[in-house]
Amino acid sequence: MTTFKSNVSAAEEFLAKFKNQTIGHFINGEMVVPSGSELFENLSPVDKSVVGKVAVATEREVDQACEAARDAFPAWRDMPGSERRKLLHHFADKIEERADEIALIESMDTGQPIKFMKKAAIRGAANFRFFADKAPEATAGSSSFQEEHTNFTSRSPIGAVGIITPWNTPFMLSTWKIAPALAAGCTVVHKPAELSPMTAMLLAEIAKDAGIPNGVWNTINGFGQVAGKRLSEHPDIKAIALVGSSITGPLIMKQGADTLKRMHLELGGKNPVIVFDDADFDRALDAVVFMIYSLNGERCTSSSRLLVQSGIKDKFLAALAKRVANLQVGHPLDPNTEIGPMIGQVHYDKVNSYFSVAKDDGAETLVGGAPCGSPVNGTEEGYYVEPTLFVEAKNNMRIAQEEIFGPVLTAIEFDAEDEAIKLANDIEFGLAGYIWTNDSGRGMRLARSIEAGMLWVNSENNRNLPSPFGGVKMSGVGRDGGDYSFDFYMETKNVCVALGTHKIPVLGGLS
Ligand code: NAD
Repeated sequence: MTTFKSNVSAAEEFLAKFKNQTIGHFINGEMVVPSGSELFENLSPVDKSVVGKVAVATEREVDQACEAARDAFPAWRDMPGSERRKLLHHFADKIEERADEIALIESMDTGQPIKFMKKAAIRGAANFRFFADKAPEATAGSSSFQEEHTNFTSRSPIGAVGIITPWNTPFMLSTWKIAPALAAGCTVVHKPAELSPMTAMLLAEIAKDAGIPNGVWNTINGFGQVAGKRLSEHPDIKAIALVGSSITGPLIMKQGADTLKRMHLELGGKNPVIVFDDADFDRALDAVVFMIYSLNGERCTSSSRLLVQSGIKDKFLAALAKRVANLQVGHPLDPNTEIGPMIGQVHYDKVNSYFSVAKDDGAETLVGGAPCGSPVNGTEEGYYVEPTLFVEAKNNMRIAQEEIFGPVLTAIEFDAEDEAIKLANDIEFGLAGYIWTNDSGRGMRLARSIEAGMLWVNSENNRNLPSPFGGVKMSGVGRDGGDYSFDFYMETKNVCVALGTHKIPVLGGLS
Protein backbone atom coordinates (compact mmCIF):
# COMPACT_ATOMS: atom_id res chain seq x y z
CA MET A 1 0.00 0.00 0.00
CA THR A 2 1.32 3.45 -0.84
CA THR A 3 1.55 6.18 1.78
CA PHE A 4 2.16 9.90 1.55
CA LYS A 5 5.81 9.32 2.41
CA SER A 6 6.33 6.54 -0.12
CA ASN A 7 4.60 8.63 -2.81
CA VAL A 8 6.84 11.62 -2.11
CA SER A 9 10.04 9.60 -2.34
CA ALA A 10 8.88 7.77 -5.49
CA ALA A 11 7.90 11.09 -7.11
CA GLU A 12 11.29 12.59 -6.23
CA GLU A 13 13.00 9.64 -7.84
CA PHE A 14 10.95 9.87 -11.03
CA LEU A 15 11.39 13.63 -11.27
CA ALA A 16 15.14 13.53 -10.62
CA LYS A 17 15.99 12.86 -14.27
CA PHE A 18 14.25 16.08 -15.30
CA LYS A 19 16.43 18.10 -12.93
CA ASN A 20 19.52 17.58 -15.09
CA GLN A 21 18.07 17.68 -18.55
CA THR A 22 16.10 20.18 -20.55
CA ILE A 23 12.70 19.00 -21.72
CA GLY A 24 12.71 19.48 -25.46
CA HIS A 25 10.59 18.35 -28.37
CA PHE A 26 10.01 14.94 -29.91
CA ILE A 27 10.44 15.31 -33.65
CA ASN A 28 10.79 12.51 -36.17
CA GLY A 29 11.58 9.96 -33.45
CA GLU A 30 14.24 12.05 -31.68
CA MET A 31 14.19 14.05 -28.45
CA VAL A 32 15.65 17.41 -29.46
CA VAL A 33 16.64 20.59 -27.69
CA PRO A 34 17.69 22.97 -30.46
CA SER A 35 20.79 24.95 -29.54
CA GLY A 36 20.02 28.45 -28.37
CA SER A 37 16.48 27.49 -27.34
CA GLU A 38 14.69 29.85 -25.03
CA LEU A 39 13.72 27.94 -21.86
CA PHE A 40 10.91 28.33 -19.35
CA GLU A 41 10.69 26.93 -15.84
CA ASN A 42 7.84 24.54 -15.24
CA LEU A 43 6.74 25.07 -11.63
CA SER A 44 4.89 22.58 -9.46
CA PRO A 45 1.66 24.10 -8.11
CA VAL A 46 2.32 22.22 -4.86
CA ASP A 47 5.15 24.46 -3.66
CA LYS A 48 6.26 26.44 -6.74
CA SER A 49 9.43 24.34 -7.00
CA VAL A 50 10.97 23.87 -10.46
CA VAL A 51 9.89 20.51 -11.90
CA GLY A 52 11.85 20.96 -15.09
CA LYS A 53 13.19 23.41 -17.64
CA VAL A 54 11.33 23.31 -20.93
CA ALA A 55 12.43 24.46 -24.38
CA VAL A 56 10.11 26.91 -26.13
CA ALA A 57 9.36 25.84 -29.70
CA THR A 58 9.79 28.48 -32.37
CA GLU A 59 8.00 28.33 -35.71
CA ARG A 60 11.05 26.50 -37.07
CA GLU A 61 10.60 23.52 -34.73
CA VAL A 62 6.87 23.46 -35.35
CA ASP A 63 7.54 23.35 -39.09
CA GLN A 64 10.02 20.49 -38.61
CA ALA A 65 7.46 18.51 -36.61
CA CYS A 66 4.72 19.15 -39.18
CA GLU A 67 7.00 18.10 -42.03
CA ALA A 68 7.99 14.94 -40.16
CA ALA A 69 4.32 14.08 -39.63
CA ARG A 70 3.54 14.81 -43.30
CA ASP A 71 6.37 12.61 -44.54
CA ALA A 72 5.52 9.74 -42.18
CA PHE A 73 1.86 9.76 -43.19
CA PRO A 74 1.81 7.60 -46.38
CA ALA A 75 3.53 4.62 -44.74
CA TRP A 76 1.42 4.85 -41.58
CA ARG A 77 -1.77 5.17 -43.64
CA ASP A 78 -0.81 2.14 -45.73
CA MET A 79 0.13 -0.05 -42.75
CA PRO A 80 -2.61 -2.70 -42.39
CA GLY A 81 -5.07 -1.82 -39.61
CA SER A 82 -4.25 -5.11 -37.90
CA GLU A 83 -0.60 -4.01 -37.60
CA ARG A 84 -1.56 -0.63 -36.19
CA ARG A 85 -3.81 -2.46 -33.75
CA LYS A 86 -0.87 -4.55 -32.53
CA LEU A 87 1.40 -1.51 -32.12
CA LEU A 88 -1.20 0.51 -30.25
CA HIS A 89 -1.89 -2.36 -27.84
CA HIS A 90 1.85 -2.59 -27.28
CA PHE A 91 1.79 1.13 -26.55
CA ALA A 92 -1.01 0.60 -24.00
CA ASP A 93 1.06 -2.15 -22.31
CA LYS A 94 3.90 0.34 -21.90
CA ILE A 95 1.56 2.94 -20.36
CA GLU A 96 0.42 0.35 -17.84
CA GLU A 97 4.02 -0.57 -17.01
CA ARG A 98 4.69 3.09 -16.18
CA ALA A 99 1.32 3.84 -14.53
CA ASP A 100 2.82 4.78 -11.15
CA GLU A 101 5.39 7.08 -12.71
CA ILE A 102 2.73 8.74 -14.88
CA ALA A 103 0.37 9.23 -11.93
CA LEU A 104 3.01 10.68 -9.61
CA ILE A 105 4.47 13.03 -12.19
CA GLU A 106 1.00 14.17 -13.27
CA SER A 107 0.11 14.92 -9.64
CA MET A 108 3.25 17.00 -9.08
CA ASP A 109 2.91 18.79 -12.41
CA THR A 110 -0.79 19.68 -12.13
CA GLY A 111 -1.64 19.56 -8.40
CA GLN A 112 -4.28 16.88 -9.05
CA PRO A 113 -4.74 14.48 -6.12
CA ILE A 114 -3.03 11.12 -6.58
CA LYS A 115 -6.34 9.52 -5.58
CA PHE A 116 -7.69 10.44 -9.03
CA MET A 117 -4.47 10.35 -11.05
CA LYS A 118 -3.86 6.64 -10.41
CA LYS A 119 -6.87 5.95 -12.57
CA ALA A 120 -5.88 8.49 -15.23
CA ALA A 121 -2.97 6.35 -16.46
CA ILE A 122 -5.14 3.25 -16.61
CA ARG A 123 -7.84 5.16 -18.46
CA GLY A 124 -5.20 6.42 -20.88
CA ALA A 125 -4.20 2.86 -21.68
CA ALA A 126 -7.87 1.90 -22.06
CA ASN A 127 -8.32 4.70 -24.60
CA PHE A 128 -5.52 3.19 -26.70
CA ARG A 129 -6.90 -0.34 -26.44
CA PHE A 130 -10.41 0.73 -27.40
CA PHE A 131 -9.30 2.55 -30.55
CA ALA A 132 -6.61 -0.04 -31.36
CA ASP A 133 -9.35 -2.65 -31.66
CA LYS A 134 -11.26 -0.46 -34.08
CA ALA A 135 -8.24 0.23 -36.33
CA PRO A 136 -8.76 -2.78 -38.66
CA GLU A 137 -12.28 -1.67 -39.57
CA ALA A 138 -11.68 2.09 -39.59
CA THR A 139 -11.84 2.33 -43.38
CA ALA A 140 -15.13 0.43 -43.63
CA GLY A 141 -18.15 2.35 -44.91
CA SER A 142 -21.76 1.81 -45.87
CA SER A 143 -23.70 1.12 -49.05
CA SER A 144 -26.85 2.60 -50.49
CA PHE A 145 -28.80 1.15 -53.41
CA GLN A 146 -30.68 3.00 -56.15
CA GLU A 147 -32.61 1.51 -59.03
CA GLU A 148 -29.73 1.77 -61.50
CA HIS A 149 -26.74 2.50 -59.29
CA THR A 150 -25.05 1.24 -56.20
CA ASN A 151 -23.24 3.67 -53.89
CA PHE A 152 -20.69 2.66 -51.35
CA THR A 153 -18.49 4.63 -49.04
CA SER A 154 -15.06 4.08 -47.61
CA ARG A 155 -12.97 6.19 -45.26
CA SER A 156 -9.34 7.14 -45.45
CA PRO A 157 -7.24 9.01 -42.90
CA ILE A 158 -7.15 12.76 -43.45
CA GLY A 159 -3.34 13.18 -43.08
CA ALA A 160 -1.14 14.82 -40.46
CA VAL A 161 -3.20 16.39 -37.66
CA GLY A 162 -2.49 18.81 -34.83
CA ILE A 163 -3.64 18.02 -31.32
CA ILE A 164 -3.62 20.85 -28.79
CA THR A 165 -4.38 19.98 -25.17
CA PRO A 166 -5.01 21.86 -21.89
CA TRP A 167 -3.45 21.53 -18.43
CA ASN A 168 -6.32 19.84 -16.64
CA THR A 169 -5.81 16.04 -16.59
CA PRO A 170 -3.40 16.44 -19.54
CA PHE A 171 -2.32 12.81 -19.73
CA MET A 172 -5.81 11.36 -20.00
CA LEU A 173 -7.02 14.04 -22.42
CA SER A 174 -3.97 13.65 -24.67
CA THR A 175 -4.49 9.90 -25.00
CA TRP A 176 -8.16 10.45 -25.68
CA LYS A 177 -7.35 12.60 -28.71
CA ILE A 178 -4.17 10.91 -29.98
CA ALA A 179 -5.37 7.29 -29.78
CA PRO A 180 -8.21 7.62 -32.36
CA ALA A 181 -6.03 9.76 -34.65
CA LEU A 182 -3.32 7.09 -34.79
CA ALA A 183 -5.80 4.23 -35.03
CA ALA A 184 -7.46 5.97 -37.99
CA GLY A 185 -4.07 6.16 -39.75
CA CYS A 186 -3.30 9.85 -39.18
CA THR A 187 0.07 11.10 -37.99
CA VAL A 188 0.19 13.56 -35.13
CA VAL A 189 1.85 16.75 -33.91
CA HIS A 190 0.90 17.22 -30.26
CA LYS A 191 1.19 20.56 -28.48
CA PRO A 192 0.63 20.08 -24.75
CA ALA A 193 -0.24 22.97 -22.44
CA GLU A 194 2.74 25.00 -21.30
CA LEU A 195 1.60 24.68 -17.67
CA SER A 196 1.75 20.87 -17.65
CA PRO A 197 4.20 19.49 -20.21
CA MET A 198 5.60 16.55 -18.21
CA THR A 199 3.40 13.57 -19.00
CA ALA A 200 3.27 14.53 -22.69
CA MET A 201 7.02 13.86 -22.75
CA LEU A 202 6.47 10.50 -21.04
CA LEU A 203 3.99 9.69 -23.82
CA ALA A 204 6.60 10.62 -26.41
CA GLU A 205 9.17 8.39 -24.66
CA ILE A 206 6.64 5.55 -24.65
CA ALA A 207 5.94 6.10 -28.36
CA LYS A 208 9.64 5.63 -29.12
CA ASP A 209 9.94 2.67 -26.79
CA ALA A 210 6.82 1.00 -28.23
CA GLY A 211 8.19 1.22 -31.78
CA ILE A 212 5.79 3.79 -33.21
CA PRO A 213 7.57 4.67 -36.50
CA ASN A 214 9.56 7.91 -36.63
CA GLY A 215 7.49 10.94 -37.50
CA VAL A 216 4.15 9.32 -36.73
CA TRP A 217 4.08 10.94 -33.29
CA ASN A 218 5.67 14.35 -32.68
CA THR A 219 5.45 16.59 -29.63
CA ILE A 220 6.36 20.26 -29.47
CA ASN A 221 6.53 22.26 -26.26
CA GLY A 222 5.95 25.96 -26.06
CA PHE A 223 3.31 28.62 -25.95
CA GLY A 224 -0.06 28.81 -27.63
CA GLN A 225 0.53 32.18 -29.24
CA VAL A 226 3.58 30.93 -31.18
CA ALA A 227 3.75 27.11 -31.31
CA GLY A 228 -0.02 26.52 -31.17
CA LYS A 229 -0.66 29.30 -33.67
CA ARG A 230 1.88 28.01 -36.19
CA LEU A 231 0.53 24.47 -35.83
CA SER A 232 -3.02 25.60 -36.54
CA GLU A 233 -1.84 27.62 -39.55
CA HIS A 234 0.53 25.05 -41.04
CA PRO A 235 -0.45 23.97 -44.58
CA ASP A 236 0.62 20.34 -44.01
CA ILE A 237 -1.73 19.95 -41.04
CA LYS A 238 -5.16 18.86 -42.20
CA ALA A 239 -7.13 19.11 -38.96
CA ILE A 240 -6.85 20.51 -35.46
CA ALA A 241 -8.36 18.88 -32.41
CA LEU A 242 -8.32 21.34 -29.53
CA VAL A 243 -9.29 20.78 -25.93
CA GLY A 244 -9.17 24.20 -24.34
CA SER A 245 -11.05 27.31 -23.39
CA SER A 246 -13.88 29.07 -25.20
CA ILE A 247 -11.51 31.99 -25.81
CA THR A 248 -8.89 29.85 -27.57
CA GLY A 249 -11.43 27.92 -29.69
CA PRO A 250 -12.50 30.84 -31.90
CA LEU A 251 -8.88 32.03 -32.21
CA ILE A 252 -7.81 28.66 -33.56
CA MET A 253 -10.74 28.61 -35.94
CA LYS A 254 -9.55 31.91 -37.42
CA GLN A 255 -5.93 30.74 -37.57
CA GLY A 256 -6.94 27.60 -39.46
CA ALA A 257 -9.32 29.35 -41.86
CA ASP A 258 -6.83 30.12 -44.63
CA THR A 259 -5.83 26.48 -44.94
CA LEU A 260 -9.46 25.35 -44.55
CA LYS A 261 -8.64 23.11 -41.61
CA ARG A 262 -11.11 20.73 -40.16
CA MET A 263 -11.72 21.69 -36.54
CA HIS A 264 -12.86 19.80 -33.51
CA LEU A 265 -13.17 22.10 -30.50
CA GLU A 266 -13.87 20.84 -26.99
CA LEU A 267 -14.20 23.96 -24.90
CA GLY A 268 -15.44 25.33 -21.58
CA GLY A 269 -18.61 24.74 -19.62
CA LYS A 270 -20.76 26.01 -16.76
CA ASN A 271 -22.80 22.91 -16.39
CA PRO A 272 -26.05 22.77 -14.44
CA VAL A 273 -26.91 19.99 -12.02
CA ILE A 274 -30.66 20.11 -11.37
CA VAL A 275 -31.91 18.50 -8.18
CA PHE A 276 -35.69 18.08 -7.86
CA ASP A 277 -37.59 17.59 -4.59
CA ASP A 278 -38.25 13.95 -5.46
CA ALA A 279 -34.58 13.05 -6.16
CA ASP A 280 -32.79 10.31 -4.26
CA PHE A 281 -31.34 12.74 -1.72
CA ASP A 282 -28.18 10.88 -0.72
CA ARG A 283 -27.17 9.83 -4.23
CA ALA A 284 -27.81 13.32 -5.58
CA LEU A 285 -25.70 14.77 -2.77
CA ASP A 286 -22.81 12.39 -3.49
CA ALA A 287 -22.93 13.22 -7.19
CA VAL A 288 -23.17 16.98 -6.70
CA VAL A 289 -20.14 16.97 -4.40
CA PHE A 290 -18.14 14.64 -6.67
CA MET A 291 -18.85 16.47 -9.91
CA ILE A 292 -17.59 19.85 -8.73
CA TYR A 293 -15.03 19.11 -6.04
CA SER A 294 -13.16 16.19 -7.64
CA LEU A 295 -10.17 17.03 -9.86
CA ASN A 296 -9.91 20.36 -7.98
CA GLY A 297 -12.98 21.56 -9.89
CA GLU A 298 -10.63 21.95 -12.88
CA ARG A 299 -12.83 19.86 -15.09
CA CYS A 300 -14.80 20.84 -18.19
CA THR A 301 -17.81 18.68 -17.25
CA SER A 302 -17.91 19.84 -13.61
CA SER A 303 -21.40 20.58 -12.31
CA SER A 304 -20.55 24.12 -11.30
CA ARG A 305 -24.15 25.45 -11.19
CA LEU A 306 -26.50 23.75 -8.74
CA LEU A 307 -30.19 24.37 -9.44
CA VAL A 308 -32.06 23.07 -6.42
CA GLN A 309 -35.85 22.89 -6.04
CA SER A 310 -37.34 24.98 -3.24
CA GLY A 311 -38.94 22.03 -1.37
CA ILE A 312 -35.58 20.47 -0.47
CA LYS A 313 -33.36 23.50 -0.82
CA ASP A 314 -32.67 24.16 2.87
CA LYS A 315 -32.10 20.51 3.78
CA PHE A 316 -29.96 19.87 0.69
CA LEU A 317 -27.77 22.95 1.13
CA ALA A 318 -27.25 22.18 4.83
CA ALA A 319 -26.09 18.64 4.04
CA LEU A 320 -23.97 19.94 1.15
CA ALA A 321 -22.31 22.59 3.30
CA LYS A 322 -21.30 19.95 5.84
CA ARG A 323 -19.67 17.85 3.14
CA VAL A 324 -17.88 20.80 1.53
CA ALA A 325 -16.50 21.95 4.88
CA ASN A 326 -15.19 18.42 5.43
CA LEU A 327 -13.27 18.12 2.13
CA GLN A 328 -9.61 17.29 2.66
CA VAL A 329 -7.39 19.94 1.10
CA GLY A 330 -3.77 18.91 1.02
CA HIS A 331 -0.66 17.76 -0.76
CA PRO A 332 -1.71 15.95 -3.94
CA LEU A 333 0.57 12.99 -3.15
CA ASP A 334 -1.21 12.32 0.14
CA PRO A 335 -3.63 9.44 -0.58
CA ASN A 336 -6.22 11.13 1.69
CA THR A 337 -6.17 14.43 -0.20
CA GLU A 338 -9.37 15.25 -2.03
CA ILE A 339 -8.44 18.75 -3.24
CA GLY A 340 -4.97 19.91 -4.26
CA PRO A 341 -3.64 23.28 -5.38
CA MET A 342 -4.78 25.23 -8.47
CA ILE A 343 -2.53 24.82 -11.51
CA GLY A 344 -0.64 28.13 -11.38
CA GLN A 345 -0.50 31.78 -10.38
CA VAL A 346 -2.76 33.18 -13.09
CA HIS A 347 -5.46 30.59 -12.54
CA TYR A 348 -5.15 30.88 -8.74
CA ASP A 349 -5.65 34.65 -9.02
CA LYS A 350 -8.64 34.09 -11.27
CA VAL A 351 -10.34 31.65 -8.87
CA ASN A 352 -9.61 33.95 -5.90
CA SER A 353 -11.09 36.92 -7.74
CA TYR A 354 -14.53 35.27 -7.71
CA PHE A 355 -14.60 35.34 -3.90
CA SER A 356 -15.05 39.10 -3.96
CA VAL A 357 -17.14 39.01 -7.14
CA ALA A 358 -19.66 36.84 -5.23
CA LYS A 359 -19.85 39.37 -2.40
CA ASP A 360 -20.18 42.31 -4.78
CA ASP A 361 -22.97 40.52 -6.65
CA GLY A 362 -24.88 39.90 -3.41
CA ALA A 363 -24.52 36.11 -3.08
CA GLU A 364 -23.85 34.50 0.28
CA THR A 365 -20.68 32.46 0.90
CA LEU A 366 -21.85 29.49 2.95
CA VAL A 367 -18.49 27.65 3.00
CA GLY A 368 -14.94 28.74 2.10
CA GLY A 369 -14.42 31.80 -0.04
CA ALA A 370 -10.74 32.48 0.55
CA PRO A 371 -7.25 31.37 -0.45
CA CYS A 372 -5.98 29.03 2.22
CA GLY A 373 -2.19 29.20 2.23
CA SER A 374 -0.49 25.86 2.05
CA PRO A 375 -1.95 23.06 4.13
CA VAL A 376 1.30 21.26 3.32
CA ASN A 377 3.78 23.41 5.21
CA GLY A 378 1.73 26.28 6.60
CA THR A 379 3.35 28.85 4.31
CA GLU A 380 1.87 30.86 1.47
CA GLU A 381 3.63 28.60 -1.05
CA GLY A 382 1.34 26.60 -3.30
CA TYR A 383 -1.87 27.67 -4.99
CA TYR A 384 -4.45 26.39 -2.53
CA VAL A 385 -7.99 27.74 -2.20
CA GLU A 386 -10.78 26.75 0.15
CA PRO A 387 -13.52 24.56 -1.31
CA THR A 388 -16.33 27.07 -1.66
CA LEU A 389 -20.13 27.07 -1.75
CA PHE A 390 -22.03 30.19 -2.84
CA VAL A 391 -25.77 30.26 -2.10
CA GLU A 392 -28.66 32.70 -2.62
CA ALA A 393 -27.25 33.31 -6.09
CA LYS A 394 -29.12 34.52 -9.16
CA ASN A 395 -28.50 33.11 -12.61
CA ASN A 396 -27.39 36.45 -14.01
CA MET A 397 -24.54 36.84 -11.51
CA ARG A 398 -20.99 36.36 -12.81
CA ILE A 399 -20.50 33.43 -10.41
CA ALA A 400 -23.39 31.71 -12.21
CA GLN A 401 -22.42 32.64 -15.77
CA GLU A 402 -18.62 32.34 -15.93
CA GLU A 403 -16.45 29.24 -15.85
CA ILE A 404 -14.45 29.56 -12.59
CA PHE A 405 -12.74 26.16 -13.07
CA GLY A 406 -11.99 25.62 -9.36
CA PRO A 407 -13.60 23.92 -6.34
CA VAL A 408 -16.37 26.49 -6.29
CA LEU A 409 -20.09 25.75 -6.54
CA THR A 410 -22.88 28.29 -7.10
CA ALA A 411 -26.35 27.27 -5.84
CA ILE A 412 -29.54 28.77 -7.25
CA GLU A 413 -33.10 27.99 -6.10
CA PHE A 414 -35.99 27.21 -8.46
CA ASP A 415 -39.67 26.32 -8.03
CA ALA A 416 -41.00 24.69 -11.19
CA GLU A 417 -39.72 22.44 -13.99
CA ASP A 418 -40.06 25.15 -16.65
CA GLU A 419 -38.05 27.55 -14.55
CA ALA A 420 -35.26 24.96 -14.14
CA ILE A 421 -35.06 24.52 -17.91
CA LYS A 422 -34.97 28.27 -18.48
CA LEU A 423 -32.20 28.74 -15.90
CA ALA A 424 -30.21 25.81 -17.27
CA ASN A 425 -30.33 27.22 -20.81
CA ASP A 426 -29.82 30.87 -20.00
CA ILE A 427 -26.04 30.73 -20.49
CA GLU A 428 -23.54 30.88 -23.33
CA PHE A 429 -22.17 27.37 -22.65
CA GLY A 430 -23.71 24.00 -23.51
CA LEU A 431 -21.33 21.17 -22.64
CA ALA A 432 -23.05 18.95 -20.06
CA GLY A 433 -26.01 18.78 -17.67
CA TYR A 434 -27.08 16.54 -14.82
CA ILE A 435 -30.68 15.86 -13.78
CA TRP A 436 -31.73 14.29 -10.50
CA THR A 437 -35.38 13.19 -10.23
CA ASN A 438 -37.29 10.01 -9.54
CA ASP A 439 -39.86 10.93 -12.21
CA SER A 440 -38.52 9.23 -15.35
CA GLY A 441 -40.81 11.25 -17.65
CA ARG A 442 -39.46 14.47 -16.19
CA GLY A 443 -35.90 13.19 -16.60
CA MET A 444 -36.61 12.56 -20.28
CA ARG A 445 -38.31 15.92 -20.77
CA LEU A 446 -35.40 17.81 -19.29
CA ALA A 447 -32.82 15.79 -21.18
CA ARG A 448 -34.64 16.80 -24.37
CA SER A 449 -34.97 20.49 -23.47
CA ILE A 450 -31.59 21.32 -22.03
CA GLU A 451 -29.17 22.77 -24.54
CA ALA A 452 -26.05 20.66 -23.99
CA GLY A 453 -24.10 18.02 -25.85
CA MET A 454 -24.28 15.54 -22.97
CA LEU A 455 -26.92 14.93 -20.31
CA TRP A 456 -26.80 12.49 -17.45
CA VAL A 457 -29.98 11.50 -15.60
CA ASN A 458 -29.47 10.26 -12.03
CA SER A 459 -25.74 9.83 -12.62
CA GLU A 460 -22.40 11.56 -12.41
CA ASN A 461 -20.53 11.76 -15.72
CA ASN A 462 -20.15 8.11 -16.53
CA ARG A 463 -18.01 7.86 -19.68
CA ASN A 464 -18.76 5.30 -22.36
CA LEU A 465 -16.07 5.35 -25.06
CA PRO A 466 -18.35 4.56 -28.03
CA SER A 467 -20.78 7.36 -27.06
CA PRO A 468 -20.41 10.90 -28.40
CA PHE A 469 -18.61 13.47 -26.24
CA GLY A 470 -18.74 17.19 -26.97
CA GLY A 471 -20.65 20.41 -26.53
CA VAL A 472 -22.93 22.94 -28.19
CA LYS A 473 -23.02 26.78 -28.10
CA MET A 474 -19.68 28.16 -26.84
CA SER A 475 -18.71 24.75 -25.45
CA GLY A 476 -17.53 23.52 -28.78
CA VAL A 477 -17.96 21.99 -32.20
CA GLY A 478 -17.78 18.30 -33.05
CA ARG A 479 -17.91 15.01 -31.19
CA ASP A 480 -15.40 12.50 -29.90
CA GLY A 481 -15.87 8.85 -29.09
CA GLY A 482 -16.10 5.62 -31.07
CA ASP A 483 -16.93 6.15 -34.70
CA TYR A 484 -17.46 9.91 -34.15
CA SER A 485 -13.70 10.24 -33.67
CA PHE A 486 -13.00 8.32 -36.88
CA ASP A 487 -15.39 10.55 -38.78
CA PHE A 488 -13.30 13.51 -37.67
CA TYR A 489 -9.89 12.02 -38.45
CA MET A 490 -10.97 10.45 -41.76
CA GLU A 491 -12.38 11.54 -45.10
CA THR A 492 -15.41 9.70 -46.40
CA LYS A 493 -15.38 8.87 -50.10
CA ASN A 494 -18.48 7.86 -52.03
CA VAL A 495 -18.16 5.57 -55.07
CA CYS A 496 -21.17 5.30 -57.36
CA VAL A 497 -21.32 2.35 -59.81
CA ALA A 498 -23.84 2.00 -62.63
CA LEU A 499 -25.55 -1.38 -62.68
CA GLY A 500 -26.22 -1.42 -66.43
CA THR A 501 -27.01 0.87 -69.31
CA HIS A 502 -29.18 3.52 -67.68
CA LYS A 503 -30.14 6.52 -69.75
CA ILE A 504 -27.49 9.25 -69.87
CA PRO A 505 -28.67 12.76 -70.89
CA VAL A 506 -27.39 13.53 -74.39
CA LEU A 507 -26.03 16.99 -75.19
CA GLY A 508 -24.70 18.12 -78.54
CA GLY A 509 -26.35 15.22 -80.27
CA LEU A 510 -28.53 17.23 -82.67
CA SER A 511 -27.51 16.82 -86.32
P1 NAD B 1 -6.40 27.24 -23.10
O1 NAD B 1 -7.43 27.41 -24.14
O2 NAD B 1 -5.80 28.45 -22.50
O3 NAD B 1 -5.18 26.36 -23.65
C1 NAD B 1 -5.40 25.11 -24.26
C2 NAD B 1 -4.26 24.84 -25.24
O4 NAD B 1 -4.37 25.78 -26.32
C3 NAD B 1 -2.87 25.03 -24.65
O5 NAD B 1 -2.02 24.03 -25.14
C4 NAD B 1 -2.44 26.39 -25.18
O6 NAD B 1 -1.05 26.55 -25.29
C5 NAD B 1 -3.11 26.38 -26.55
N1 NAD B 1 -3.32 27.72 -27.12
C6 NAD B 1 -3.59 28.88 -26.49
N2 NAD B 1 -3.72 29.88 -27.38
C7 NAD B 1 -3.55 29.35 -28.61
C8 NAD B 1 -3.56 29.86 -29.93
N3 NAD B 1 -3.79 31.16 -30.19
N4 NAD B 1 -3.36 29.01 -30.97
C9 NAD B 1 -3.15 27.69 -30.74
N5 NAD B 1 -3.08 27.15 -29.50
C10 NAD B 1 -3.29 27.97 -28.46
O7 NAD B 1 -7.08 26.29 -22.00
P2 NAD B 1 -6.47 25.84 -20.61
O8 NAD B 1 -6.57 27.01 -19.69
O9 NAD B 1 -5.18 25.16 -20.84
O10 NAD B 1 -7.53 24.70 -20.19
C11 NAD B 1 -8.69 24.94 -19.49
C12 NAD B 1 -9.87 25.06 -20.44
O11 NAD B 1 -10.03 23.84 -21.18
C13 NAD B 1 -11.18 25.24 -19.68
O12 NAD B 1 -11.95 26.22 -20.31
C14 NAD B 1 -11.86 23.88 -19.81
O13 NAD B 1 -13.26 23.89 -19.70
C15 NAD B 1 -11.40 23.43 -21.16
N6 NAD B 1 -11.54 21.98 -21.28
C16 NAD B 1 -12.54 21.49 -22.08
C17 NAD B 1 -12.75 20.12 -22.19
C18 NAD B 1 -13.86 19.55 -23.05
O14 NAD B 1 -13.83 18.36 -23.32
N7 NAD B 1 -14.83 20.33 -23.48
C19 NAD B 1 -11.93 19.24 -21.47
C20 NAD B 1 -10.92 19.78 -20.67
C21 NAD B 1 -10.74 21.16 -20.59
